[in-house]
Order: sequence, then C-alpha cells, then structure tokens
Amino acid sequence: MIQRTLPTCQELDWQDELRQLITTPEALFERLCLPSRYLDQAHKAHALFPVRTTLSFINAMQKGDINDPLLKQVLPLGEELIQKKGFTDTPLEEDSFNTIPGIIHKYHGRVLLIAATQCAINCRYCFRRNFDYTANTLSKAQWQDIFNYINSDSSIEEVIFSGGDPLAMPDAPFAWAVTELEKIPHITRLRIHSRIPIVLPSRITKTLCHTLRNSRFDVAMVIHSNHAQEITPTVIEALNKLTSANIVLLNQSVLLKGINDNAATLTALSKALFSAGVMPYYLHLLDKVNGASHFDINKTQAKQLITALTESLSGYLVPKLVQEIPHAKSKTPIR
Ligand SMILES: *Cc1c(COP(=O)(O)O)cnc(C)c1O
Ligand code: SF4
Repeated sequence: MIQRTLPTCQELDWQDELRQLITTPEALFERLCLPSRYLDQAHKAHALFPVRTTLSFINAMQKGDINDPLLKQVLPLGEELIQKKGFTDTPLEEDSFNTIPGIIHKYHGRVLLIAATQCAINCRYCFRRNFDYTANTLSKAQWQDIFNYINSDSSIEEVIFSGGDPLAMPDAPFAWAVTELEKIPHITRLRIHSRIPIVLPSRITKTLCHTLRNSRFDVAMVIHSNHAQEITPTVIEALNKLTSANIVLLNQSVLLKGINDNAATLTALSKALFSAGVMPYYLHLLDKVNGASHFDINKTQAKQLITALTESLSGYLVPKLVQEIPHAKSKTPIR
C-alpha cells in the first residue's frame, strides 16, 4: 500500500494557502453566494486591478452580503471605472524617492524597503494599485545594493520592510535579509508593515517568530486592519505568537466610506485590537488613487469622527488621523 505523505509542518500550510488564492470574480462570487448581476461590472474593475484574496479573509465574511465590510475591501465594482478630479495613478509621487530599486527613502532616520512585490490580498483602495512592482522585483545584486545604500548612510536607524507584503517572503530569505541588516551597526530597529497577520494568519510560523525574537533589533510590526470583524480567533492566535516573540504590535487603518466611517465601528476596532495586544497607530485619510474615489471621506467628516472617538475612548485607543502629502517630511497630522 502506498502511504501518502501529508504536510506535517506549519510552514507548508501558509504557502499552500497562498497558492489557493481567490483570483477571479467568479470564484469570489461563488464562494460568497453573491448576486450575479454585479458580475459584469466586477469583470471590468478586475481588468484594471485583479481580484485577489485569501480563504482566511473570505471565511471572516458574511455569505450573501454584498455590503459586508470585509468583502467591500476586495470586491471589484463599477465605481472603480469612474474618473474623478483630484485622483491620479500615483498620488504619493513616490517615484522621486525610489532612490534605488527596492528603497523608498523619504523620511529622516528610516527607509522603506520593498521586500516583496506581491500581497496576499488586493485591497481595492490601495494607493499602490498602480505601482510599478516589476521594476522593484529584487535580484540578489539589488539586495546587495540596498544593504550598501543603508550601510553608507548612518542617519538611517530603522528599516521598514514593506511591499507588497514583506511577509509574502518565505522564512529563509526573510531570515537572510534580517541577518544581512544586522551587520549594519547603525540600524537598531526593524519594522514590518504587513496585512498578512490579518489575512493569512498561518504565515506567522515558529521559524518567523524565532528569527524576529533572536534578532538584535527592537522589532515593531504595523499590521493593517480596518474593521473589528477581521480580528477572528485565528488572527488573535497569530498576534499572540508575535507578542510572545517580543514584537511591539501597532495597527494602521484607512478611513473607508461604507466600511468603517462611523464612530461605533472605529471604537469596536480599537477595543478589539487592544484586546489582541495591538495599539492603534494611524488612521489614514484615503490616498487619492484612481479607482478608489467611492471610498473617499472628506477631512471635515474625518475630524468629526476623531472628536467622537476622543470623547468616548481612552486616549491611547484613539489612532492618529493622518494624511500623506507628497514631499512632506512626515505623515501630516490632521487636527
Ligand atoms: C509611512 C512611511 C514611513 C513611516 O512613517 P512613520 O510616521 O514613521 O510611521 C516611512 N517611509 C515612507 C516612505 C512612508 O510612506
Ligand atoms: S495589503 Fe497593503 S499593499 Fe497590499 S493591496 Fe492591501 S493595502 Fe495595498
């Protein structure tokens, strides 16, 4: 009798899940029993920016509900085809800071490293939906150029792994990159910007936690969650593993019309995050990227929401409302 070998280690699970993503409107509609009358427009929007989501994220959605706040973040809609004044393909004008391939050096003391070019899910409002990732897929030689660049500028204290989603990198190359950075004496902090703890919690492997716990860096991870419904028991388990590895957890959200643009939803999110060991960090105004205008909330409404949060929550549970202004020296606080 032939014995089938089953994957036994956790490492295989997340990579399998990454291979089994939902990448067509049909598959998304079928899984969630959505009305087919939206399918035609979904295809048009999918042609501009493809559907992409994990099964974990889908499992946290309500079947049959076209207005589910998680679904809305990944569902392509006809509204994306609308051209609106003030919206562009590259709202942050990051190109001018794309110093060398893989590096965006914009703020003092820290650099953003495009460590991976894919994400586990495609968020419809993503400001990088038109980013030229092909030009930022890194070869070994380019990684070396990045280390040289960081090594030659002693004002850089912190490296931020971003993307795409940096945790889309497998454990071995991830650990290699951390080890190479550890050789640069002026780097003291490592930060990881990732949505993966939320949308692919199985990625938080023992090996990953081991790499981060044993690094000489102070490590922070900024996750990205927009709604309390995303904080499922499986997600909480993954977050707890990170906390146990001495990683400081912060969250950034984007203020999105129809998803989290009311005080009750934002309050519930802050509380759910804190219970899971995550401090609210930023609440971003939408970056005005083509295809996302239907998510836009204006500054006045945003300020009213923050006032409502401030009046009902402990101070540390209120995220900082910020906006990204191209060429500004930091995120711009909105008061
Ligand atoms: C947001 C961002 C950072 C980090 O900014 P903090 O305010 O330190 O969180 C760094 N580099 C770039 C290019 C960014 O967009
Ligand atoms: S996970 Fe982040 S980078 Fe990736 S699509 Fe979503 S918002 Fe954009």
